[in-house]
Amino acid sequence: MAAYMLTRAGASVVLLEAGRPWFSTEHSDMLRWPYDSPRRGASTTERPFGEFDACDGGWEIPGEPYTTAPGTSFRWFRARMLGGRTNHWGRISLRFGPHDFRRKSLDGLGDDWPISYQDLKPYYDRVDRLVGIYGSREGLPNEPDGVFLPPPRPRCYELLVKQSCDRLGVACISSRLSILTRPLNGRPACHFCGQCNRGCSTNSNFSSPEVLIRPALATGRLTLITSAMAREVTVGDDGRATGVAYIDKETGSGAHVRARVVVLAASACESARLLLNSKSSRHPQGLANSSGVVGRYLTDTTGTDVAGFIPRLVDNPVHNEDGAGGHIYMPWWLDNRKLDFPRGYHIEVWGGRRVPSYGFMGNIHRYPPGGGYGQQLKQDYRRYWGATVGFSGRGEMIPNDDCYCDIDPDTVDEWGIPVLRFHWKWSDHERKQARHMQETFRAIIADMGGEVYAPMPSYEQDYGLLPGGVIIHELGTTRMGRDPATSVLNEYCQAHEVKNLFLADGGAFVSQADKNPTWTILALAMRTGEYIAWQMKRRAL
Ligand SMILES: Cc1cc2nc3c(=O)[nH]c(=O)nc-3n(C[C@H](O)[C@H](O)[C@H](O)COP(=O)(O)OP(=O)(O)OC[C@H]3O[C@@H](n4cnc5c(N)ncnc54)[C@H](O)[C@@H]3O)c2cc1C
Ligand code: SF4
Repeated sequence: MAAYMLTRAGASVVLLEAGRPWFSTEHSDMLRWPYDSPRRGASTTERPFGEFDACDGGWEIPGEPYTTAPGTSFRWFRARMLGGRTNHWGRISLRFGPHDFRRKSLDGLGDDWPISYQDLKPYYDRVDRLVGIYGSREGLPNEPDGVFLPPPRPRCYELLVKQSCDRLGVACISSRLSILTRPLNGRPACHFCGQCNRGCSTNSNFSSPEVLIRPALATGRLTLITSAMAREVTVGDDGRATGVAYIDKETGSGAHVRARVVVLAASACESARLLLNSKSSRHPQGLANSSGVVGRYLTDTTGTDVAGFIPRLVDNPVHNEDGAGGHIYMPWWLDNRKLDFPRGYHIEVWGGRRVPSYGFMGNIHRYPPGGGYGQQLKQDYRRYWGATVGFSGRGEMIPNDDCYCDIDPDTVDEWGIPVLRFHWKWSDHERKQARHMQETFRAIIADMGGEVYAPMPSYEQDYGLLPGGVIIHELGTTRMGRDPATSVLNEYCQAHEVKNLFLADGGAFVSQADKNPTWTILALAMRTGEYIAWQMKRRAL
């Protein structure tokens, strides 16, 4: 987004990208069938979300380790390709609400942002118009409406979920996804093939290569250097950033690009790593890190899942439920003053009779009575396909002193760059929230007349809370704030200590919110890009 804004404002931009060039209209496997592959599209180490998934990268990248401190567990999902994880993300595109920017004022925990919803609203609106998003206007206080395209209608199982939610008093509304249900800005509408994670051949969903980088290239002012692994930001005697040193992965040799302004957008943790590795006599703790805050305040979304068998959905007539992602979701609907945990969560719903993928309906013997051999087995697959409904809670954690990343003094990657070490500990705030998720999902499944597959997890099992990093919403490692002693960036994502250094990823977040972060990353990056262009024009940078 920063490259898009800056090139359109007339600046010349060099974009260093560690991976290869990738554009969904040229490279997507959207229309391949499982039988096109000897592995039937099964996941591999390089493709943990399935062989046809768009993402180069995963939980482990050969030659690029990371470590975790003894006794802690954190998983770091990284993409290494143009556009990063936006090539296969879920496109759930939620704005933060007015309360999300001032949570400390409301409940005393964490910190407030130095900006308000009103500061970011014009940028959210512009992102909506530029990128495209579907949703329904609801007028909810902390789930602001956007500039929405019409939402798709709920599927059969989603209607049943909605009925149960209505009975139980759980808010349930149309999803908000950056998928085009009408043509927009020269891009055609979605044809509901349901394969967004493979990248869209028709460019009907958001990926940054197609929607942002292609137009930036068209200005003639963007130079794209791929296979360029940034190693550190270089600084001059005056303390200003002078450019970025990187490894050319094709040759293994070092190179450097000079710049008047440096913008890091390598993902929250990788940008923190770059700053921590940018040590000099002037910046012995790493660049922009006199406060010691770089790497601190690391958060991930809380998450736990529950699935159940719904007898009413057995023997459903054959019909197409592919669609465009989830068509409904549940925004946070309760008042924390009446609960034993702070902050909320939203619920993502899954199920239905979509194109089956490799390994679908594993454990069919759990379906009453399911399985067997030959004709009976095939028959059961047909009867029970679509009779499972699942719920994923995605909630807000509170930053804490035990969750951070720093540089591992003993480990380097294949280019000799020191790697990150993660430290992680959930608190009871998150555990209690996960318990509430579990209880809620079980109540909805029970109301639907269903049966949950797994027993309620215990406190010792963190109530099913997934390990840190697993929800892939790492944020906060270079947070913004007014006080340079407790924050890395100012409200424009400009480093307090290095005027010509900016960040344009999730590192700037002060808190998580119960929303997926990417729409806010985009809105912040748009604001930052505009600010840089303005400052350059008035020669303040
Ligand atoms: C399966 C999945 C589903 C998701 N679903 C959602 C969702 O529905 N909604 C939502 O809001 N979020 C979702 N997310 C999260 C979302 O993808 C991220 O929030 C978003 O992509 C972060 O953008 P980013 O630019 O900060 O990082 P990335 O997308 O990771 O991009 C970082 C870029 O920097 C490059 N890079 C990294 N290190 C270097 C280096 N040293 N030198 C040069 N280049 C480098 C990478 O190759 C990449 O191109 C999902 C993520 C995954 C994996
Ligand atoms: S569901 Fe729509 S947006 Fe997603 S890949 Fe298919 S056509 Fe593209």
